[in-house]
Amino acid sequence: LMEKTQAKTFLDEVSSVPGGDGVRLCIQCGTCTASCPSATRWQYTPSQVIALIRAGMRNEVLSSSSVWHCLSCYFCTVRCPRGVKPTELFHVLEYLATQHGFRVRATRTPAMYQSFVNSIRGNGRVHEFGMMFRYYLTTNPLAALKLLPVAGQLFSHKRLPLLPRKVKGRDDLTKIIQKFREVRGGQ
Ligand code: SF4
Repeated sequence: LMEKTQAKTFLDEVSSVPGGDGVRLCIQCGTCTASCPSATRWQYTPSQVIALIRAGMRNEVLSSSSVWHCLSCYFCTVRCPRGVKPTELFHVLEYLATQHGFRVRATRTPAMYQSFVNSIRGNGRVHEFGMMFRYYLTTNPLAALKLLPVAGQLFSHKRLPLLPRKVKGRDDLTKIIQKFREVRGGQ
C-alpha cells in the first residue's frame, strides 16, 4: 500500500504560495538571467534558482543571498516565454525565507522590508522619516550621518515630515493584516 500522505516537496511548497506556481513551467531557457539587471550580484542566477527549486535544494535556495536581489523591474516577467512570472516567484522566496527564519548577512533588504511593513502597520501609510530612521538604526547608524544634508534639504522644503500622518480606518487595516496572518502565517 502506498503512503496516503507524502512529505511536501520544496517544489510543492513554493508552488502553493500565490505567485509561486509558475515555477513548474520553466524550460531553463535563461532569458530571465540574461534580462536581469542585477544578475551579476546573485549568488545563483535567476534561472539557476529555479533549477535548484525543482531539484529540491531548499536550504541552498532559502539561505542564498539570491533570494533578496530581485529589484522588481519585471524585465524577466515580460520576457519569459513560458509565463513563469519570475518576479513574483522571487518575492515568494523572500516570504518563505522570512517565514522560516533564514537570515542572510550579505544583504540589508530584509531590514528595509521590515521597516516598511512596520511603518504601514503603525500609520496605514509609509512615514519616510520613521522608516529610514528604523532601517539605519538596525543596520548601519553611521551611514545615516551622510544623509543628514539631504534630510535637512527635505525638511526645509517640507518634503520629509517629522511626525507621521496616519490614515483613517487604521482599525480596518489592522483587521485585514490580521486576517492575512491567520490565513498565511506571517510577521
Ligand atoms: Fe525559465 Fe522563464 Fe527564466 Fe526561461 S525566462 S529560464 S522559462 S523562468
